[in-house]
Amino acid sequence: MQHSLMNWIVFVPLIASLAACASSPPGSPVKWAIAIHGGAGTLERDAPAAELQAYRTALDEALTLGRDALARGDAALDVCEAVVRMLEDNPLFNAGRGAVFNEQGEHELDACIMDGSTMQCGAVAGVRTVKHPITLARKVMEHTRHVLLMGDGAEQFATSMEVERVPNNWFDTEKRRRVLEEVLKKRAETGALEQPTDKKFTYGTVGCVVRDSKGHLAAATSTGGLTGKRWGRVGDSPIAGAGNYADAFGAVSGTGTGEQFIRHAVARTITARMQFGGETVAQAADAVVFHTLQPDDGGIIAVDRNGNLAAVYNSGGMYRGLADSNGRFEVRIFED
Ligand code: ASP
Repeated sequence: MQHSLMNWIVFVPLIASLAACASSPPGSPVKWAIAIHGGAGTLERDAPAAELQAYRTALDEALTLGRDALARGDAALDVCEAVVRMLEDNPLFNAGRGAVFNEQGEHELDACIMDGSTMQCGAVAGVRTVKHPITLARKVMEHTRHVLLMGDGAEQFATSMEVERVPNNWFDTEKRRRVLEEVLKKRAETGALEQPTDKKFTYGTVGCVVRDSKGHLAAATSTGGLTGKRWGRVGDSPIAGAGNYADAFGAVSGTGTGEQFIRHAVARTITARMQFGGETVAQAADAVVFHTLQPDDGGIIAVDRNGNLAAVYNSGGMYRGLADSNGRFEVRIFED
């Protein structure tokens, strides 16, 4: 008798927690869905298997964090922030530690977070000592009446919010320094001020879009920008509607040539096509990535209000992961 009571005490909570993590049968309506990306500039297909595997493992960890949080019932905004923080901490990606260098050999970081259910949004641009720019972006959203703070003002705000700070060289990695040297050398040889067209020199931004179990949508994006960028250059990632956006119809995070994403208001154009044109998230994403942007400009991840996911890019690959409550869980770099 005592034995069977003990069994119940042990097994009932176990069954309950398994049920919370269990996925719904494929085909049933999606309760929650998440997509992440780690940039549209990837290694080549024939790169050493261990290097490709390191990216897959990092994406797998971040997607697992997001999936488990959503299965527990966490809110879209919290999941987006937590996942992007994890990716910012990983030196493989061009966000937080591992961010690219600007032409002066320093790091200027951009980030944006947006809540589609309230249209609240916060962003920072050109921050230099903030360990997790995405968290500061959220604080802009929640503790100011503004949307975007930049440079010294954002740094001063970081001090008042007591967010974690690091010296600028904490973001350094050898790999990124070598790429800067290569970019500056090419520039000196050719006299061109433009970015080299080879995307592996530039990208690696991180992003996350979520539809949570209450149906709320959110998007978050964080980046070091482009290697060798001008001091003071701001990309698309902290610009709501360009590289990051969420409303009641969809949530989008982009990666690629930021100037192009700004010119074409890429993220908002995708949700607008859904809102006014009745397109699916896949149709809207395809139209913008393949017909508005130029080949090799980059890509996006998106989710709609029903939890349908899209990951579309026009570059050689895009580090990405997609998961939902129906048991979908996939991490990819290239097409297959
Ligand atoms: N879109 C980013 C920027 O232009 C770069 C990237 O996605 O890697 O700042």
